[in-house]
Amino acid sequence: MMMTTTVLNLIDGSFAPARGGATISIYNPATSELVGTAPDSTAHDVEAAVEAATNAFAAWSALAPAQRAAHLHALANLVERDIDTFARAESIDTGKPLALARSVDIPRAIANLRFFADAVCDSHVEQFANEHARSVVHRRALGVAACISPWNLPLYLFTWKIAPALASGCTVVGKPSEITPVTAWMLAQRSIEAGFPRGVLNIVNGRGPLCGAALVAHPRVACITFTGGTVTGETIARTAAPAFKRVALELGGKNPTIVFADAVRSDRLTQTVHGVARAAFTNQGQVCHCGSRILIERSAWETFVPALVERARALRIGDPLDAATDVGSLISLQHVMRVAAAVDGAIRDGGRALCGGSRVDPSLLPAATRAGAFYPPTLIEGLPPSAKANQEEIFGPVATLIPFADEAEAVAIANGTRFGLSASVWTSDPSRAQRIASQLDCGTVWINSWMVRDLRAPIGGMHASGLGREGGREALHFFAEPVVVVTHETPE
Ligand code: NAD
Repeated sequence: MMMTTTVLNLIDGSFAPARGGATISIYNPATSELVGTAPDSTAHDVEAAVEAATNAFAAWSALAPAQRAAHLHALANLVERDIDTFARAESIDTGKPLALARSVDIPRAIANLRFFADAVCDSHVEQFANEHARSVVHRRALGVAACISPWNLPLYLFTWKIAPALASGCTVVGKPSEITPVTAWMLAQRSIEAGFPRGVLNIVNGRGPLCGAALVAHPRVACITFTGGTVTGETIARTAAPAFKRVALELGGKNPTIVFADAVRSDRLTQTVHGVARAAFTNQGQVCHCGSRILIERSAWETFVPALVERARALRIGDPLDAATDVGSLISLQHVMRVAAAVDGAIRDGGRALCGGSRVDPSLLPAATRAGAFYPPTLIEGLPPSAKANQEEIFGPVATLIPFADEAEAVAIANGTRFGLSASVWTSDPSRAQRIASQLDCGTVWINSWMVRDLRAPIGGMHASGLGREGGREALHFFAEPVVVVTHETPE
Protein backbone atom coordinates (compact mmCIF):
# COMPACT_ATOMS: atom_id res chain seq x y z
CA MET A 1 0.00 0.00 0.00
CA MET A 2 1.53 3.27 -1.12
CA MET A 3 1.75 6.17 1.38
CA THR A 4 -0.31 9.12 0.26
CA THR A 5 0.95 12.69 0.12
CA THR A 6 -0.99 15.61 1.53
CA VAL A 7 -0.01 18.63 -0.51
CA LEU A 8 -0.56 21.99 1.20
CA ASN A 9 -0.38 25.58 0.03
CA LEU A 10 2.62 27.70 0.97
CA ILE A 11 1.38 31.14 1.96
CA ASP A 12 3.44 33.71 3.85
CA GLY A 13 5.95 31.11 5.00
CA SER A 14 3.32 28.70 6.38
CA PHE A 15 1.70 25.57 5.04
CA ALA A 16 -2.08 25.47 4.88
CA PRO A 17 -4.95 23.57 3.30
CA ALA A 18 -7.46 25.48 1.19
CA ARG A 19 -9.53 27.77 3.41
CA GLY A 20 -12.68 25.99 2.37
CA GLY A 21 -11.08 22.62 3.18
CA ALA A 22 -11.76 21.15 -0.27
CA THR A 23 -9.18 18.89 -1.86
CA ILE A 24 -8.31 17.47 -5.26
CA SER A 25 -7.32 13.81 -5.53
CA ILE A 26 -3.97 12.98 -7.09
CA TYR A 27 -3.54 9.71 -8.97
CA ASN A 28 -0.57 7.76 -10.24
CA PRO A 29 -1.57 7.47 -13.90
CA ALA A 30 0.54 4.35 -14.40
CA THR A 31 -1.53 2.41 -11.82
CA SER A 32 -4.65 4.57 -11.32
CA GLU A 33 -3.93 4.44 -7.56
CA LEU A 34 -4.82 7.40 -5.37
CA VAL A 35 -1.48 8.81 -4.20
CA GLY A 36 -2.46 12.00 -2.46
CA THR A 37 -4.57 15.10 -2.19
CA ALA A 38 -3.94 18.77 -2.90
CA PRO A 39 -5.82 21.88 -1.81
CA ASP A 40 -8.70 22.88 -4.07
CA SER A 41 -7.98 26.56 -3.53
CA THR A 42 -10.32 29.42 -4.30
CA ALA A 43 -10.01 33.18 -4.65
CA HIS A 44 -9.72 33.44 -0.83
CA ASP A 45 -6.49 31.46 -0.81
CA VAL A 46 -5.22 33.41 -3.82
CA GLU A 47 -6.00 36.65 -1.98
CA ALA A 48 -3.93 35.57 1.02
CA ALA A 49 -1.02 34.48 -1.19
CA VAL A 50 -1.01 37.70 -3.22
CA GLU A 51 -1.18 39.75 -0.04
CA ALA A 52 1.82 37.89 1.39
CA ALA A 53 3.76 38.36 -1.85
CA THR A 54 2.85 42.05 -1.95
CA ASN A 55 4.05 42.57 1.61
CA ALA A 56 7.33 40.75 0.96
CA PHE A 57 8.12 42.61 -2.26
CA ALA A 58 9.83 45.76 -0.95
CA ALA A 59 12.41 43.91 1.13
CA TRP A 60 13.07 41.16 -1.45
CA SER A 61 13.48 43.53 -4.39
CA ALA A 62 15.81 45.73 -2.32
CA LEU A 63 18.25 42.86 -1.73
CA ALA A 64 21.41 42.84 -3.80
CA PRO A 65 21.20 40.34 -6.67
CA ALA A 66 23.88 38.23 -4.99
CA GLN A 67 21.73 37.92 -1.86
CA ARG A 68 18.72 36.74 -3.85
CA ALA A 69 21.01 34.42 -5.79
CA ALA A 70 22.27 32.88 -2.54
CA HIS A 71 18.70 31.85 -1.65
CA LEU A 72 18.20 30.25 -5.06
CA HIS A 73 21.50 28.38 -4.78
CA ALA A 74 20.53 27.14 -1.31
CA LEU A 75 17.24 25.85 -2.72
CA ALA A 76 19.00 24.20 -5.67
CA ASN A 77 21.39 22.46 -3.27
CA LEU A 78 18.49 20.98 -1.30
CA VAL A 79 16.79 19.69 -4.44
CA GLU A 80 20.07 18.16 -5.49
CA ARG A 81 20.50 16.57 -2.05
CA ASP A 82 17.07 14.95 -2.47
CA ILE A 83 17.23 14.36 -6.22
CA ASP A 84 16.20 10.71 -6.04
CA THR A 85 13.13 11.47 -3.94
CA PHE A 86 12.12 14.24 -6.31
CA ALA A 87 12.63 12.05 -9.39
CA ARG A 88 10.54 9.22 -7.97
CA ALA A 89 7.76 11.61 -6.97
CA GLU A 90 7.76 13.16 -10.45
CA SER A 91 7.53 9.76 -12.08
CA ILE A 92 4.64 8.66 -9.85
CA ASP A 93 2.79 11.96 -10.36
CA THR A 94 3.10 11.99 -14.16
CA GLY A 95 3.69 8.41 -15.33
CA LYS A 96 6.95 9.44 -17.01
CA PRO A 97 9.85 6.98 -16.86
CA LEU A 98 11.80 7.39 -13.64
CA ALA A 99 15.00 7.36 -15.69
CA LEU A 100 13.77 10.44 -17.58
CA ALA A 101 12.78 12.27 -14.41
CA ARG A 102 16.14 11.41 -12.82
CA SER A 103 18.26 12.30 -15.87
CA VAL A 104 16.35 15.27 -17.29
CA ASP A 105 13.46 16.76 -15.29
CA ILE A 106 15.00 17.16 -11.86
CA PRO A 107 18.57 17.99 -12.97
CA ARG A 108 17.05 20.64 -15.23
CA ALA A 109 15.01 22.07 -12.33
CA ILE A 110 18.22 22.37 -10.32
CA ALA A 111 19.97 23.93 -13.31
CA ASN A 112 17.14 26.47 -13.72
CA LEU A 113 17.54 27.68 -10.12
CA ARG A 114 21.32 27.94 -10.45
CA PHE A 115 21.29 29.43 -13.94
CA PHE A 116 19.06 32.39 -13.06
CA ALA A 117 20.87 32.95 -9.75
CA ASP A 118 24.11 33.34 -11.68
CA ALA A 119 22.54 35.21 -14.58
CA VAL A 120 21.15 37.98 -12.41
CA CYS A 121 24.56 38.46 -10.77
CA ASP A 122 26.17 38.67 -14.22
CA SER A 123 23.71 41.16 -15.64
CA HIS A 124 25.08 44.63 -16.18
CA VAL A 125 23.39 47.99 -16.02
CA GLU A 126 23.17 49.23 -19.62
CA GLN A 127 24.45 52.73 -20.29
CA PHE A 128 24.46 54.79 -23.45
CA ALA A 129 26.37 58.01 -23.85
CA ASN A 130 26.27 60.54 -26.66
CA GLU A 131 27.38 64.15 -26.94
CA HIS A 132 24.28 65.35 -25.06
CA ALA A 133 23.56 62.88 -22.33
CA ARG A 134 24.23 59.69 -20.46
CA SER A 135 21.27 57.27 -20.31
CA VAL A 136 21.30 54.59 -17.66
CA VAL A 137 18.78 51.74 -17.89
CA HIS A 138 17.66 50.61 -14.44
CA ARG A 139 15.60 47.44 -14.35
CA ARG A 140 13.02 47.64 -11.61
CA ALA A 141 11.31 44.42 -10.51
CA LEU A 142 7.63 44.49 -11.51
CA GLY A 143 6.08 43.29 -8.24
CA VAL A 144 4.09 40.10 -7.70
CA ALA A 145 4.59 37.55 -10.47
CA ALA A 146 2.03 34.83 -11.17
CA CYS A 147 3.78 31.66 -12.39
CA ILE A 148 1.38 29.06 -13.82
CA SER A 149 2.73 25.76 -15.07
CA PRO A 150 1.43 22.57 -16.75
CA TRP A 151 1.60 18.87 -15.92
CA ASN A 152 3.97 17.49 -18.53
CA LEU A 153 7.27 18.73 -17.06
CA PRO A 154 6.09 19.79 -13.62
CA LEU A 155 9.15 20.85 -11.62
CA TYR A 156 11.23 21.61 -14.73
CA LEU A 157 8.73 24.24 -15.94
CA PHE A 158 7.72 25.51 -12.50
CA THR A 159 11.34 26.37 -11.66
CA TRP A 160 11.87 27.75 -15.19
CA LYS A 161 9.37 30.44 -14.17
CA ILE A 162 9.93 31.06 -10.48
CA ALA A 163 13.74 31.18 -10.75
CA PRO A 164 13.97 34.22 -13.08
CA ALA A 165 11.07 35.91 -11.26
CA LEU A 166 12.75 35.59 -7.87
CA ALA A 167 16.22 36.39 -9.24
CA SER A 168 14.85 39.59 -10.79
CA GLY A 169 13.42 40.75 -7.45
CA CYS A 170 9.76 39.86 -7.98
CA THR A 171 7.90 37.94 -5.34
CA VAL A 172 5.96 34.95 -6.57
CA VAL A 173 2.62 33.27 -6.36
CA GLY A 174 3.09 29.99 -8.19
CA LYS A 175 0.33 27.67 -9.32
CA PRO A 176 1.43 24.21 -10.41
CA SER A 177 -0.89 21.99 -12.40
CA GLU A 178 -3.59 20.49 -10.20
CA ILE A 179 -2.80 17.15 -11.86
CA THR A 180 0.86 17.09 -10.77
CA PRO A 181 1.36 19.20 -7.63
CA VAL A 182 3.72 16.98 -5.63
CA THR A 183 7.20 18.17 -6.62
CA ALA A 184 6.21 21.84 -6.26
CA TRP A 185 5.03 20.95 -2.75
CA MET A 186 8.39 19.32 -2.06
CA LEU A 187 10.03 22.48 -3.36
CA ALA A 188 7.86 24.57 -1.02
CA GLN A 189 9.13 22.53 1.92
CA ARG A 190 12.76 22.95 0.79
CA SER A 191 12.26 26.72 0.40
CA ILE A 192 11.48 26.94 4.12
CA GLU A 193 14.51 24.79 4.92
CA ALA A 194 16.62 27.04 2.68
CA GLY A 195 15.57 30.05 4.77
CA PHE A 196 13.50 31.90 2.18
CA PRO A 197 11.99 35.03 3.75
CA ARG A 198 8.26 34.56 4.29
CA GLY A 199 5.99 35.69 1.50
CA VAL A 200 8.70 35.69 -1.18
CA LEU A 201 7.65 32.35 -2.66
CA ASN A 202 3.99 31.39 -2.27
CA ILE A 203 2.41 28.36 -3.91
CA VAL A 204 -1.34 27.90 -4.28
CA ASN A 205 -2.81 24.67 -5.56
CA GLY A 206 -6.09 24.36 -7.33
CA ARG A 207 -8.00 24.11 -10.53
CA GLY A 208 -7.23 26.39 -13.44
CA PRO A 209 -10.63 28.01 -13.99
CA LEU A 210 -11.05 28.70 -10.24
CA CYS A 211 -7.69 29.22 -8.57
CA GLY A 212 -5.64 30.03 -11.70
CA ALA A 213 -8.22 32.45 -13.03
CA ALA A 214 -8.43 34.28 -9.67
CA LEU A 215 -4.66 34.65 -9.68
CA VAL A 216 -4.55 36.03 -13.22
CA ALA A 217 -7.34 38.50 -12.45
CA HIS A 218 -5.96 39.71 -9.12
CA PRO A 219 -5.31 43.46 -9.38
CA ARG A 220 -2.03 43.26 -7.46
CA VAL A 221 -0.51 40.65 -9.77
CA ALA A 222 1.83 42.60 -12.04
CA CYS A 223 2.72 39.94 -14.58
CA ILE A 224 1.79 36.43 -15.58
CA THR A 225 4.08 33.80 -16.98
CA PHE A 226 2.09 30.86 -18.22
CA THR A 227 2.89 27.56 -19.91
CA GLY A 228 0.02 25.40 -21.04
CA GLY A 229 -2.60 24.99 -23.69
CA THR A 230 -3.35 27.55 -26.40
CA VAL A 231 -6.99 27.97 -25.37
CA THR A 232 -5.99 28.67 -21.75
CA GLY A 233 -3.37 31.12 -23.03
CA GLU A 234 -6.07 33.03 -24.93
CA THR A 235 -8.23 33.23 -21.80
CA ILE A 236 -5.33 34.51 -19.72
CA ALA A 237 -4.33 37.10 -22.34
CA ARG A 238 -7.93 38.37 -22.45
CA THR A 239 -8.11 38.73 -18.66
CA ALA A 240 -4.74 40.44 -18.44
CA ALA A 241 -5.20 42.90 -21.30
CA PRO A 242 -7.54 45.48 -19.70
CA ALA A 243 -5.15 45.89 -16.76
CA PHE A 244 -2.12 46.06 -19.10
CA LYS A 245 -0.49 43.20 -17.22
CA ARG A 246 2.57 41.80 -18.84
CA VAL A 247 2.09 38.22 -20.05
CA ALA A 248 4.44 35.56 -21.36
CA LEU A 249 2.64 32.65 -22.96
CA GLU A 250 4.33 29.36 -23.85
CA LEU A 251 1.63 27.37 -25.61
CA GLY A 252 1.12 24.38 -27.84
CA GLY A 253 2.91 23.22 -30.96
CA LYS A 254 2.55 21.03 -34.05
CA ASN A 255 6.24 20.87 -34.71
CA PRO A 256 7.68 19.60 -37.99
CA THR A 257 10.60 17.19 -38.13
CA ILE A 258 12.03 17.55 -41.65
CA VAL A 259 14.03 14.59 -42.92
CA PHE A 260 16.08 14.88 -46.11
CA ALA A 261 17.34 11.90 -48.08
CA ASP A 262 20.94 12.80 -47.32
CA ALA A 263 20.21 12.18 -43.62
CA VAL A 264 19.17 8.57 -44.15
CA ARG A 265 22.17 7.30 -46.08
CA SER A 266 23.52 4.13 -44.51
CA ASP A 267 26.13 5.92 -42.38
CA ARG A 268 23.52 8.25 -40.84
CA LEU A 269 20.31 6.22 -40.87
CA THR A 270 20.45 4.91 -37.30
CA GLN A 271 21.34 8.29 -35.85
CA THR A 272 18.52 10.00 -37.74
CA VAL A 273 15.94 7.34 -36.89
CA HIS A 274 16.83 7.46 -33.20
CA GLY A 275 16.75 11.25 -33.15
CA VAL A 276 13.40 11.49 -34.94
CA ALA A 277 11.84 8.81 -32.71
CA ARG A 278 13.14 10.60 -29.64
CA ALA A 279 11.65 13.88 -30.85
CA ALA A 280 8.28 12.21 -31.42
CA PHE A 281 7.97 9.97 -28.37
CA THR A 282 9.95 11.40 -25.45
CA ASN A 283 7.74 11.71 -22.38
CA GLN A 284 5.05 9.79 -24.33
CA GLY A 285 4.90 12.66 -26.84
CA GLN A 286 3.79 15.03 -24.08
CA VAL A 287 6.42 17.71 -24.63
CA CYS A 288 5.31 20.90 -26.36
CA HIS A 289 8.40 20.66 -28.62
CA CYS A 290 7.76 17.06 -29.71
CA GLY A 291 8.09 16.59 -33.45
CA SER A 292 4.59 15.35 -34.19
CA ARG A 293 4.64 15.89 -37.98
CA ILE A 294 7.45 14.00 -39.67
CA LEU A 295 8.09 15.39 -43.16
CA ILE A 296 10.10 12.98 -45.29
CA GLU A 297 11.73 13.60 -48.68
CA ARG A 298 10.00 11.24 -51.10
CA SER A 299 13.22 9.57 -52.23
CA ALA A 300 14.01 8.65 -48.59
CA TRP A 301 10.58 7.17 -47.80
CA GLU A 302 11.35 3.52 -48.60
CA THR A 303 14.48 3.50 -46.46
CA PHE A 304 13.44 5.72 -43.61
CA VAL A 305 9.84 4.78 -42.83
CA PRO A 306 10.36 1.03 -42.18
CA ALA A 307 13.37 1.85 -39.99
CA LEU A 308 11.37 4.42 -38.01
CA VAL A 309 8.45 2.00 -37.57
CA GLU A 310 10.85 -0.67 -36.34
CA ARG A 311 12.33 1.77 -33.84
CA ALA A 312 8.88 2.84 -32.58
CA ARG A 313 7.87 -0.81 -32.12
CA ALA A 314 11.09 -1.52 -30.24
CA LEU A 315 10.43 1.13 -27.58
CA ARG A 316 9.58 -0.66 -24.35
CA ILE A 317 6.24 0.32 -22.84
CA GLY A 318 5.92 -0.47 -19.17
CA ASP A 319 6.17 0.42 -15.52
CA PRO A 320 7.68 3.92 -15.33
CA LEU A 321 9.65 2.89 -12.25
CA ASP A 322 11.40 0.11 -14.21
CA ALA A 323 14.77 1.30 -15.51
CA ALA A 324 14.23 -0.58 -18.79
CA THR A 325 11.06 1.37 -19.67
CA ASP A 326 11.23 3.79 -22.61
CA VAL A 327 7.54 4.71 -22.76
CA GLY A 328 5.63 5.26 -19.54
CA SER A 329 1.99 6.12 -19.07
CA LEU A 330 0.16 9.17 -20.34
CA ILE A 331 -1.00 11.71 -17.78
CA SER A 332 -4.46 10.20 -17.23
CA LEU A 333 -7.04 7.79 -18.57
CA GLN A 334 -9.06 10.78 -19.82
CA HIS A 335 -6.04 11.88 -21.83
CA VAL A 336 -5.69 8.37 -23.30
CA MET A 337 -9.30 8.68 -24.43
CA ARG A 338 -8.52 12.06 -26.07
CA VAL A 339 -5.44 10.66 -27.83
CA ALA A 340 -7.34 7.53 -28.94
CA ALA A 341 -10.17 9.71 -30.30
CA ALA A 342 -7.67 11.81 -32.27
CA VAL A 343 -6.10 8.67 -33.76
CA ASP A 344 -9.52 7.19 -34.60
CA GLY A 345 -10.39 10.49 -36.30
CA ALA A 346 -7.15 10.37 -38.30
CA ILE A 347 -7.98 6.84 -39.47
CA ARG A 348 -11.51 7.95 -40.44
CA ASP A 349 -9.91 10.80 -42.42
CA GLY A 350 -8.00 8.25 -44.50
CA GLY A 351 -4.84 7.76 -42.43
CA ARG A 352 -3.19 4.36 -41.87
CA ALA A 353 -1.47 3.48 -38.61
CA LEU A 354 1.87 1.78 -39.36
CA CYS A 355 2.36 0.97 -35.69
CA GLY A 356 0.31 1.53 -32.54
CA GLY A 357 -3.07 3.02 -33.38
CA SER A 358 -5.07 1.50 -30.53
CA ARG A 359 -4.78 1.21 -26.77
CA VAL A 360 -2.20 -1.10 -25.26
CA ASP A 361 -3.60 -4.52 -24.38
CA PRO A 362 -3.45 -4.46 -20.54
CA SER A 363 -2.56 -8.16 -20.41
CA LEU A 364 0.76 -7.26 -22.03
CA LEU A 365 1.60 -4.81 -19.24
CA PRO A 366 3.23 -5.59 -15.90
CA ALA A 367 0.55 -6.57 -13.38
CA ALA A 368 0.87 -3.41 -11.26
CA THR A 369 0.22 -1.18 -14.26
CA ARG A 370 -2.72 -2.91 -15.94
CA ALA A 371 -5.12 -0.13 -14.94
CA GLY A 372 -2.68 2.51 -16.16
CA ALA A 373 -3.03 5.15 -18.86
CA PHE A 374 -0.91 3.60 -21.60
CA TYR A 375 -0.98 4.32 -25.32
CA PRO A 376 1.68 2.99 -27.71
CA PRO A 377 3.94 4.95 -30.06
CA THR A 378 1.86 5.49 -33.17
CA LEU A 379 2.88 6.54 -36.69
CA ILE A 380 0.21 7.50 -39.21
CA GLU A 381 0.68 7.93 -42.96
CA GLY A 382 -1.63 8.89 -45.78
CA LEU A 383 -3.09 12.17 -44.54
CA PRO A 384 -2.90 15.48 -46.43
CA PRO A 385 -1.16 18.36 -44.59
CA SER A 386 -4.57 19.97 -44.07
CA ALA A 387 -5.99 16.97 -42.15
CA LYS A 388 -6.95 17.58 -38.52
CA ALA A 389 -4.22 15.25 -37.26
CA ASN A 390 -1.69 17.43 -39.10
CA GLN A 391 -3.12 20.68 -37.77
CA GLU A 392 -4.15 20.11 -34.15
CA GLU A 393 -1.91 19.22 -31.23
CA ILE A 394 -2.58 15.67 -29.97
CA PHE A 395 -0.01 15.80 -27.15
CA GLY A 396 0.53 12.07 -27.04
CA PRO A 397 2.82 9.45 -28.62
CA VAL A 398 1.41 10.04 -32.08
CA ALA A 399 3.20 11.39 -35.15
CA THR A 400 2.11 11.68 -38.75
CA LEU A 401 4.30 10.97 -41.79
CA ILE A 402 4.09 13.38 -44.73
CA PRO A 403 6.09 13.15 -47.97
CA PHE A 404 7.62 16.18 -49.68
CA ALA A 405 9.30 16.64 -53.06
CA ASP A 406 11.76 19.46 -52.48
CA GLU A 407 12.88 22.15 -50.06
CA ALA A 408 10.17 24.59 -51.05
CA GLU A 409 7.42 22.06 -50.41
CA ALA A 410 8.99 21.03 -47.10
CA VAL A 411 9.03 24.64 -45.91
CA ALA A 412 5.46 25.26 -47.08
CA ILE A 413 4.13 22.20 -45.24
CA ALA A 414 6.23 22.95 -42.16
CA ASN A 415 4.87 26.50 -41.93
CA GLY A 416 1.31 25.45 -42.79
CA THR A 417 -0.27 25.34 -39.34
CA ARG A 418 -1.41 28.04 -36.92
CA PHE A 419 1.46 27.11 -34.56
CA GLY A 420 5.11 28.20 -34.61
CA LEU A 421 6.96 26.68 -31.70
CA SER A 422 9.93 24.68 -33.02
CA ALA A 423 11.22 22.40 -35.76
CA SER A 424 14.06 20.02 -36.40
CA VAL A 425 15.87 19.56 -39.71
CA TRP A 426 17.77 16.38 -40.51
CA THR A 427 20.33 16.68 -43.32
CA SER A 428 24.02 16.15 -43.94
CA ASP A 429 24.21 19.41 -45.91
CA PRO A 430 25.04 22.31 -43.52
CA SER A 431 24.12 25.03 -45.98
CA ARG A 432 20.74 23.45 -46.69
CA ALA A 433 20.15 23.23 -42.93
CA GLN A 434 20.77 26.97 -42.53
CA ARG A 435 18.69 27.79 -45.62
CA ILE A 436 15.70 25.85 -44.29
CA ALA A 437 16.10 27.25 -40.78
CA SER A 438 15.97 30.80 -42.10
CA GLN A 439 12.57 30.12 -43.72
CA LEU A 440 10.80 28.38 -40.84
CA ASP A 441 8.27 30.39 -38.84
CA CYS A 442 9.04 29.15 -35.36
CA GLY A 443 11.04 30.09 -32.29
CA THR A 444 13.65 27.30 -32.35
CA VAL A 445 15.11 25.18 -35.15
CA TRP A 446 17.26 22.21 -34.19
CA ILE A 447 19.66 20.83 -36.79
CA ASN A 448 20.24 17.05 -36.59
CA SER A 449 19.19 17.23 -32.95
CA TRP A 450 16.23 17.91 -30.70
CA MET A 451 15.81 19.67 -27.35
CA VAL A 452 19.49 20.49 -27.03
CA ARG A 453 19.46 23.67 -24.97
CA ASP A 454 21.69 26.48 -23.83
CA LEU A 455 19.75 28.24 -21.07
CA ARG A 456 21.13 31.60 -22.21
CA ALA A 457 19.25 31.33 -25.52
CA PRO A 458 15.61 32.48 -25.67
CA ILE A 459 12.96 29.85 -26.23
CA GLY A 460 9.29 30.22 -27.11
CA GLY A 461 6.90 30.36 -29.99
CA MET A 462 5.15 32.45 -32.60
CA HIS A 463 1.48 32.69 -33.58
CA ALA A 464 -0.71 30.21 -31.61
CA SER A 465 2.41 28.86 -29.87
CA GLY A 466 2.67 31.91 -27.71
CA LEU A 467 3.93 35.32 -26.92
CA GLY A 468 7.30 36.37 -25.59
CA ARG A 469 10.33 34.26 -24.82
CA GLU A 470 11.75 32.54 -21.79
CA GLY A 471 15.40 31.82 -21.12
CA GLY A 472 18.44 33.93 -20.46
CA ARG A 473 18.19 37.67 -20.48
CA GLU A 474 14.72 37.62 -22.05
CA ALA A 475 13.32 35.97 -18.92
CA LEU A 476 15.07 38.34 -16.54
CA HIS A 477 13.88 41.32 -18.55
CA PHE A 478 10.31 40.04 -18.54
CA PHE A 479 10.10 40.45 -14.77
CA ALA A 480 11.48 44.01 -14.71
CA GLU A 481 10.43 47.42 -15.95
CA PRO A 482 13.24 49.33 -17.64
CA VAL A 483 13.45 52.85 -16.24
CA VAL A 484 15.89 55.13 -18.06
CA VAL A 485 17.57 57.92 -16.13
CA VAL A 486 19.04 60.52 -18.47
CA THR A 487 21.72 62.92 -17.23
CA HIS A 488 22.80 65.85 -19.35
CA GLU A 489 26.54 65.81 -19.73
CA THR A 490 26.77 69.57 -20.06
CA PRO A 491 24.83 71.98 -17.86
CA GLU A 492 22.09 73.78 -19.80
P1 NAD B 1 -3.61 23.78 -19.37
O1 NAD B 1 -3.66 25.02 -20.18
O2 NAD B 1 -4.84 23.00 -19.18
O3 NAD B 1 -3.10 24.09 -17.88
C1 NAD B 1 -1.86 24.71 -17.62
C2 NAD B 1 -1.95 25.42 -16.28
O4 NAD B 1 -2.88 26.48 -16.39
C3 NAD B 1 -2.44 24.55 -15.14
O5 NAD B 1 -1.75 24.93 -13.96
C4 NAD B 1 -3.90 24.91 -15.05
O6 NAD B 1 -4.46 24.71 -13.78
C5 NAD B 1 -3.86 26.38 -15.37
N1 NAD B 1 -5.12 26.93 -15.90
C6 NAD B 1 -6.08 26.30 -16.61
N2 NAD B 1 -7.08 27.15 -16.90
C7 NAD B 1 -6.73 28.36 -16.38
C8 NAD B 1 -7.34 29.64 -16.38
N3 NAD B 1 -8.51 29.87 -16.95
N4 NAD B 1 -6.68 30.66 -15.78
C9 NAD B 1 -5.48 30.45 -15.20
N5 NAD B 1 -4.85 29.25 -15.17
C10 NAD B 1 -5.48 28.22 -15.76
O7 NAD B 1 -2.44 22.92 -20.00
P2 NAD B 1 -1.97 21.47 -19.58
O8 NAD B 1 -2.99 20.51 -20.10
O9 NAD B 1 -1.61 21.45 -18.14
O10 NAD B 1 -0.61 21.33 -20.42
C11 NAD B 1 -0.58 20.85 -21.72
C12 NAD B 1 -0.40 21.99 -22.69
O11 NAD B 1 0.72 22.77 -22.34
C13 NAD B 1 -0.15 21.52 -24.10
O12 NAD B 1 -0.92 22.27 -25.01
C14 NAD B 1 1.32 21.82 -24.32
O13 NAD B 1 1.68 22.04 -25.65
C15 NAD B 1 1.49 23.04 -23.50
N6 NAD B 1 2.91 23.22 -23.13
C16 NAD B 1 3.62 24.22 -23.74
C17 NAD B 1 4.97 24.39 -23.46
C18 NAD B 1 5.79 25.47 -24.12
O14 NAD B 1 6.88 25.78 -23.63
N7 NAD B 1 5.33 26.08 -25.19
C19 NAD B 1 5.59 23.54 -22.54
C20 NAD B 1 4.83 22.54 -21.95
C21 NAD B 1 3.47 22.39 -22.24
